[in-house]
Amino acid sequence: MDKTDVLIVGGSAGGPVVGITAKRHHKDAKVTVIRKEKPGQVLVPCGLPYILGTVGTPEKNIIPDTLLTGNNIDFIVDEATAIDKERKVVSTATGKSIGYEKLVLAVGGLPIIIPIPGNDLKNVFCAKKDVDYINALLKTLDKVKDVVIIGGGFIGLEFADELKKRGLNVTIVEMLPHCLQLVFDEDFCSVAENKLRERGIDVKTKAQAEAILGKKNVEAVKLSTGEELRADLVFMCIGVRPNTELAQKAGLKIGDTKAIWVDDYGRTTDQDIFAIGDCAEKKSFFTKKPSNLRLASIACTEGRIAGANLFGLKRRNEGVIGSFATIIGDSGVGMAGLTETAAKAAGFEVVASDVKTPDKHPGSIPGATEFRVKLVFERATQQILGGQVCGGGTVGEVVNVLSALIQNRMTADAVATFQYGTHPFFTPSPIPYPIVNGAEVALTKLRS
Ligand SMILES: Cc1cc2nc3c(=O)[nH]c(=O)nc-3n(C[C@H](O)[C@H](O)[C@H](O)COP(=O)(O)OP(=O)(O)OC[C@H]3O[C@@H](n4cnc5c(N)ncnc54)[C@H](O)[C@@H]3O)c2cc1C
Repeated sequence: MDKTDVLIVGGSAGGPVVGITAKRHHKDAKVTVIRKEKPGQVLVPCGLPYILGTVGTPEKNIIPDTLLTGNNIDFIVDEATAIDKERKVVSTATGKSIGYEKLVLAVGGLPIIIPIPGNDLKNVFCAKKDVDYINALLKTLDKVKDVVIIGGGFIGLEFADELKKRGLNVTIVEMLPHCLQLVFDEDFCSVAENKLRERGIDVKTKAQAEAILGKKNVEAVKLSTGEELRADLVFMCIGVRPNTELAQKAGLKIGDTKAIWVDDYGRTTDQDIFAIGDCAEKKSFFTKKPSNLRLASIACTEGRIAGANLFGLKRRNEGVIGSFATIIGDSGVGMAGLTETAAKAAGFEVVASDVKTPDKHPGSIPGATEFRVKLVFERATQQILGGQVCGGGTVGEVVNVLSALIQNRMTADAVATFQYGTHPFFTPSPIPYPIVNGAEVALTKLRS
């Protein structure tokens, strides 16, 4: 039987981060990752949509194995099939038994396929992180014209935009009144929808896909509105469900969101087994209630927490803030924390500000675009709860700044006086700098 000090099941976003962190904190520990993907075949999960347009092939969207080997982490290509908690042994599909001191489950999530008639027809695809599957999808895309995307979340929008770049007719079907409605306030959703329509993507909201029609291949999608959309290919972008099969078989507790229950240190109900990433339960930073947020950035943060805690508790998880951005054409939208709607729904009394300025200064610098920041503060504590941003290429890093302000529970006054750097080519002007200006506007409202 093979033996290792730390065995990590999963080698995509979160697994390697656990390994690297474990090595940083326990440099003599033998760390082993077991994953299903062959050498050189771990896809950058967030890059999946861009394979279809911008990047072109799966080979250009790979997390290099040197991330593991360069950090003295062993990796095995295999599938973990069972955990014997008492003997502390993991069995694999090829018949191996691997003993561990500490085990980390980073087995991710599985794409949700909605249970409607026709979901098994040829040319129904989903966002599967698998090189062979994506190559088959690429081959099919060369032969189709009309694509229907079911689900108007950020993944659906990213696939829609990339498929448009291939010259296809793309329609997004979303059952809620707006795309991105679960992550943005309504006016920001409209910004994103308008950008999609400008790019020639059809958006059908308040419409549910009821059936996929066709004999062998997809031919159309029937909507709850009665409309039938012509389709040669259907892409389901409904999200993922936590992969809990191994954990369940091993008798580990499953939480309220049907993910593997973990404590604030990343431990499951077995003190020698940790779980992180899409497979692990999360709680909200704001309400401490279970959260359905699942992001690669969260998987990596959880990996850094669990990796440090394996042989002694050092880091505590305060809960997920949720910070991400996306791009439609060349326009970015992003958010961190709670929207105004979500904050109110969670019971906070809030004050919001909404400011705009060019993202370079003066606005005549080539490439300058309008930059809009909406900030949400809690009235009682004046602490920042969230921010939404739209503009150009800097959106992604601005939401990270907002996330840091939120995590540090900064008040509107502290945000208004936080020290930032500016440059004409890279940032808005220091005078109306949007994050501090937004905090000043909110302070005026908070005082009134
Ligand atoms: C199209 C798309 C775009 C996205 N864009 C973003 C983005 O822009 N930003 C962001 O933060 N998040 C994004 N996400 C979400 C992000 O991809 C996930 O949150 C992230 O991949 C979760 O990481 P993970 O390590 O928990 O699991 P995964 O990335 O799902 O990895 C699971 C790993 O476990 C392995 N595994 C599973 N079962 C077994 C087993 N039994 N034995 C051995 N190995 C096993 C798999 O082989 C894999 O290596 C996107 C997701 C998708 C689908």
